[in-house]
Amino acid sequence: MSDLAHLRRDFPLLGRAVHGKPLVYLDSAASSQKPVQVIDAVAEFYATSYANVHRGAYTLSDEATTAYEGARAKAAAMVGAASPTEIVFTSGTTAAINTVAYGWGLDHLRAGDRIVLTVMEHHSNIVPWQLVAGRTGAELAYLRVGADHQVDLTDLEEVIDERTRIVAVSAMSNVTGTMPPVTQLAAAAHAVGAVVVVDAAQAVPHLPVDVATLGADFLAWSGHKMLGPTGIGCLWGRADRLEEMSPLQGGGEMISDVGLYESRWAPVPHKFEAGTPPIAQAVGLGAAIDYLDKVGMDAVRRHETAITGYALDRLATIPDLTVHGPTDLAVRGGAVSFTLGDIHAHDIATILDEENGVAIRAGHHCAKPLMRHLGLTSAARASFYVYTTEDEIDQLVAGLHTARRIFGLS
Ligand code: PLP
Repeated sequence: MSDLAHLRRDFPLLGRAVHGKPLVYLDSAASSQKPVQVIDAVAEFYATSYANVHRGAYTLSDEATTAYEGARAKAAAMVGAASPTEIVFTSGTTAAINTVAYGWGLDHLRAGDRIVLTVMEHHSNIVPWQLVAGRTGAELAYLRVGADHQVDLTDLEEVIDERTRIVAVSAMSNVTGTMPPVTQLAAAAHAVGAVVVVDAAQAVPHLPVDVATLGADFLAWSGHKMLGPTGIGCLWGRADRLEEMSPLQGGGEMISDVGLYESRWAPVPHKFEAGTPPIAQAVGLGAAIDYLDKVGMDAVRRHETAITGYALDRLATIPDLTVHGPTDLAVRGGAVSFTLGDIHAHDIATILDEENGVAIRAGHHCAKPLMRHLGLTSAARASFYVYTTEDEIDQLVAGLHTARRIFGLS
């Protein structure tokens, strides 16, 4: 057992019961729980330092601005950004990807250009590109997923061809846990002059991420999946890419001057942050980054690899159970999707909840093209984080045996 189990004490919600059983929370890929350090930081900010940012020439507004901009600097450091000005605060990964799709895509894509995605993308990294393709006449092309659950690179050069302007790829699948070879895909994209957008919603919370190593032009992630509050996320963009991108929304805060008929924009990143931003949420995100920093992202990754290995070993002992994802721990994270005979995923989730207090996700996981590739309409998914213990995996396994009994499989 990894030495991170003691962290559970920091998460008040993990102490509660469900149906009279201790809660076993295995849905961190959907959203993580929050440590008391983050909850307290948000409450403390509201109680002592809250005001709008970048506006008032008074102490409180200065303090709030310092806290808000401090969170931006922490987010920048977390992904190895060259400067805090390369971080745009958004409401989450979805908003961050839409910001690029519309802000960069509408200006730079023409009819006949190519947007390359992979079949394993979350809907957040498919639908915005479909919308922008529809508006610009660009076409979508997909890298397939192989039987090993990895991106199939055999037709890489045919798919990422001279027409390609954008390659948008997930750094970790929220369904199979697969970590695609982003650095290699980025190199192929850059070789034809394409821009690389990385959906890091499942990567930044779980392992060290460095934008330079990945070779990304844009990186998107959400605060709520990494111990932070909802309503805050980040778009990292290389400085020159952000400069050549148009703002998606107009309003206060994002201008340097406004006339009756035209306006000029504030410097990046502010030109992308119209209106009052999610101030307290940013402060909470900063506290979450401090927390993860203290644990160390290498330790987070080690813990999750150990827990995932334990889970895969235990799940392999259950008859009729199929895990849909790589077995090699080096290329996967802690999202483990599975099916159990022909028991519907929703029935599995309900039994686990009611009989064992285990919370998992069931459904298509906002990745319908990947589910179709897997030949599934739904799957159950257990997903892990810093606070997950082997004992919780044992509860999951016990619940799955109960499900087999209830459905007459044993
Ligand atoms: N991309 C991936 C891989 C995800 O797992 C998720 C959320 O589950 C998203 C994008 C969307 O994140 P959000 O709903 O926080 O915008």
